[in-house]
Amino acid sequence: MLNRQGRPTAPGLASVSAHETFTGNKALLQEEPLLFEIGRYDVTGVDLDEPQGFTPRLGGLERSDGIGLPGLSEPETMRHFVRLSQKNYGIDTGLFPLGSCTMKHNPRLNERMARLPGFADVHPLQPQSTVQGALELMNELGRWLTELTGMPAVALSPKAGAHGELCGMMAIKAAIEAKGEGATRRTVLVPDSAHGTNPATAALIQFDVKPVPVREDGTVDPEAVRALAGPDTAAIMLTNPNTCGLFEKDVAKIAEIIHAAGGYFYCDGANYNAIVGKARPGDLGVDAMHINLHKTFSTPHGGGGPGSGPVVLSERLAAFAPVPFVRTDAAGFALVEDEEGTEAFGRITAFHGQTGMYVRALSYMLSHGADGCRQASEDAVLNANYVRARLADLMSLPFGNRPCMHEVLFDDAWLKDTGVSTLDFAKAMIDEGYHPMTVYFPLVVHGAMLVEPTESESRASLDLFIATLRDLAMAAKRGDAARFTGAPYLAPRRRLDETRAARSPVLRWTPPAPVQEAAE
Ligand SMILES: *Cc1c(COP(=O)(O)O)cnc(C)c1O
Repeated sequence: MLNRQGRPTAPGLASVSAHETFTGNKALLQEEPLLFEIGRYDVTGVDLDEPQGFTPRLGGLERSDGIGLPGLSEPETMRHFVRLSQKNYGIDTGLFPLGSCTMKHNPRLNERMARLPGFADVHPLQPQSTVQGALELMNELGRWLTELTGMPAVALSPKAGAHGELCGMMAIKAAIEAKGEGATRRTVLVPDSAHGTNPATAALIQFDVKPVPVREDGTVDPEAVRALAGPDTAAIMLTNPNTCGLFEKDVAKIAEIIHAAGGYFYCDGANYNAIVGKARPGDLGVDAMHINLHKTFSTPHGGGGPGSGPVVLSERLAAFAPVPFVRTDAAGFALVEDEEGTEAFGRITAFHGQTGMYVRALSYMLSHGADGCRQASEDAVLNANYVRARLADLMSLPFGNRPCMHEVLFDDAWLKDTGVSTLDFAKAMIDEGYHPMTVYFPLVVHGAMLVEPTESESRASLDLFIATLRDLAMAAKRGDAARFTGAPYLAPRRRLDETRAARSPVLRWTPPAPVQEAAE
């Protein structure tokens, strides 16, 4: 069945799609034009008298034509931004099963703390004597991170996981150069299951990337690492738990092989949410690991805004950490800004990093306590395994039906001959009011669907999610492909050309030609 746009409608959705409206709005789903399209150019949103007796003193440089900005009243502006905000699916809207991203609840307590004026209103150029509390907080956060990970040092300033990777790998590069091995140790080993930021980071600082194949069971074989490691090995970048949701059981062995070859072990710590309080990366031979505060320690994912990716470092790398860092002495806390006389590789950000995220993360740690942080990890793993166990009869598990860590990876073998792809399945979840899981990552699995429910979902919330996926899965297997291939049917926008949007973004608005009303 086709609707008015000539698109197929899903069974049971025909009456909804056929109900076109005059405005294009669908009840609470409102069309939202750009501000430039809403506003008028001959009015302003405020009443200002024409200035009288005013002589410009700009030497003839004053603007002679209109500024070209739309005039809008406060209610018009307010509605625009509130409507836009309502188009966002967020962790406060519903379950957000994106694997690898750890979309957990952001406790409101953290927000309260981050808004305390003593943290929110300080300026990075203020005299340090006036921000002792903020520096103490950074010091305390660093203490928690080093204690939890069993690593002696931390660089707080990186502003994302990927930025932390760059920081850790630059420290490794500096350590290699300090030993005079810069010209020879140029290879970084990266397993095929790695996040794209890992090889990108290594390549960005002129390392050669050598892929390590992933074995049958989804983990890295230490013998494969041994075969590739040598005097040219600068480092391995290994994610643990890995992106297949599995703990790298031979991690200690792999560390030993890399160290014996004279290289360093960089651990991608994006999945640290699964092991906080259970395993200490320092005990596993890790030399550097970033921690995404916006994943593991529940600070908001910024949507391009502030993230935070502190890096913990081993004894061998501690000295190479970038400035600034916090130092304490009898006089109080100080931010060491000058790299002169240190082995620091330099600095990686202007100023000191994301204070607001530091406050949120420490607030989360203190309110949970060490035992609470451990329980969060245990519950994250429990929730993922509950999802796995309840879907294993319908959806296929590439590495067998055995326990996973905090996320469960399905492939698309179970969709064979249904006419439904991983992408279609994900789009149909949107009609059901869910953000899709991570799809087509990791690359080592065909048509990957990576589901991470997080610990912050209740049993009831998981049961509804599972029931929804079961209903969809059974519909796919029944041959109801139309429910999927045209999905989403109920979203304000349907299938967007994401590739074209990424490759040729249109960043400039051009006013449309004025519309003439047709003469009667
Ligand atoms: C999220 C993630 C990253 C990158 O972290 P950002 O904070 O998004 O830059 C790196 N590796 C893995 C495995 C991730 O999940």
